Amino acid sequence: MEIIHVSAECYPVAKAGGLGDVVGALPKYQCKAGDIAKVVMPMYRTKFLYEHEWEVDFKGSSNLGNRYFDYTVIKEKTNQLGFDLYLVDINGLLDRQKIYGYDDDAERFTAFQIAVVNWLSNWEHRPDIVHCHDHHTALIPFMMQFCYDYQFLGSLPTVLTIHNGQYQGWMGWDKSIFIPRWDLWKRGMLDWEGNINPLASGVKCAGKITTVSMSYLEELRVNANGLEKLFEYERGKCVGILNGIDNEIWDPQTDPYLEHHFSVKDVTLGKQKNKEALCKRFGLDPQKPLFVFIGRLVGEKAADILPDAIRTAIHNTQGNASFLILGSGETAIEWEFQQMTGTHAGIFNAVIGYDEKLSHHIYAGADFLLMPSRVEPCGLNQMYSMRYGTVPIVRSTGGLKDTVVDMGDYQGFGIRFDQASITDVDYSVGRAVSVYRDKVHLEWMRKHMMQIDHSWERTVDQYRQVYLSLQ
Ligand code: ADP
Repeated sequence: MEIIHVSAECYPVAKAGGLGDVVGALPKYQCKAGDIAKVVMPMYRTKFLYEHEWEVDFKGSSNLGNRYFDYTVIKEKTNQLGFDLYLVDINGLLDRQKIYGYDDDAERFTAFQIAVVNWLSNWEHRPDIVHCHDHHTALIPFMMQFCYDYQFLGSLPTVLTIHNGQYQGWMGWDKSIFIPRWDLWKRGMLDWEGNINPLASGVKCAGKITTVSMSYLEELRVNANGLEKLFEYERGKCVGILNGIDNEIWDPQTDPYLEHHFSVKDVTLGKQKNKEALCKRFGLDPQKPLFVFIGRLVGEKAADILPDAIRTAIHNTQGNASFLILGSGETAIEWEFQQMTGTHAGIFNAVIGYDEKLSHHIYAGADFLLMPSRVEPCGLNQMYSMRYGTVPIVRSTGGLKDTVVDMGDYQGFGIRFDQASITDVDYSVGRAVSVYRDKVHLEWMRKHMMQIDHSWERTVDQYRQVYLSLQ
């Protein structure tokens, strides 16, 4: 089976979050399982681009409204990622350093999707599946069915995976001119409450919808940033498939980012060495339990409650716990954490920014990972932390609910709480401090969680079943 993944992110080419990790791993494991999986994404100006060799695969042109544009599709020469990787270059639109955050993102990603569909229409053969990821690529199923120039691709099965339903790519109807000539009777397939809503369009037009965990699929019916009724209506074609993690990249025995490698057998010693190095670097006491947070500093992750929750926990544990933050996002939250590095030096530290290497070191050296997320479609951090023997402390939502068992339950190894509130986080930190003192229990939890199978091998077949259902 030949599968084309279309995505805005793919690790290690360009990653802003979990979407990048998934698109960097799923195709690799699909290829290992015997399928032909390819990825096509925008050609941003990232380090990966300059460090690899490329060949031109196709040159074409199209229109974005009145604007004529040329595009070039290049292919990575060495198949280094374990799958064929194609980048789409559009001068003036995609040739930027960052993935998102520009005023013309709607134009950029619409042009990218037009280029992809145009490129596909020039292939000599047809792939078996076009697999789109999130709203940046969710107009493709519409384009393939209702844009006059591409309708002949309409019989090609499409799947849309929702990694995050909060972001939908809304555009005003004035931007409808960007979409290549389309059947105006199909306006309803683009519209949601008076705007063009790419994610809603994808849900309506794709053959199958997958979400990145089972619980998230349930939650979307009651909390989908306005699309609840749509998910309820389309429930028949929706499937929840829990993300995997790339066990080759995330392996504490071989991880090139770690100075001290360890396995299940020597987890206590290995983690202690990593923790000591981490604490030395950030001026923290390695004898105290180390609580960390890694991620986007946004409301979705409940990062806004963390400064107060941490101050409360520091007070209630009488300073017998350390905290380390790695993340970036809303300025007010960043500012508050930066202040705390001064007011709570020696007990709290924060790195504001994105640092892949440091994130690996933190997963390895921390004792507990905090994830109070209000919304968590799957969450990869808790799975990475489990693989590195770090106890996840999570709010019971989405994928966190599907992957973490509270230590109070049978064979539990994590800590779960219900509300994204200061009280719940503080209470959970208290429970963690107690278990930290019980070294035998802590070691059992670490060993147990490190052996849980979150590999993609387990998941690839579920995607295959979805693809087969569309053939
Ligand atoms: P998201 O909602 O952000 O996609 P996920 O849990 O699905 O959340 O994935 C987050 C991914 O991004 C993980 O690989 C995590 O380690 C990484 N990550 C998030 N913030 C940072 C950061 N500041 N530095 C390094 N890695 C980060």
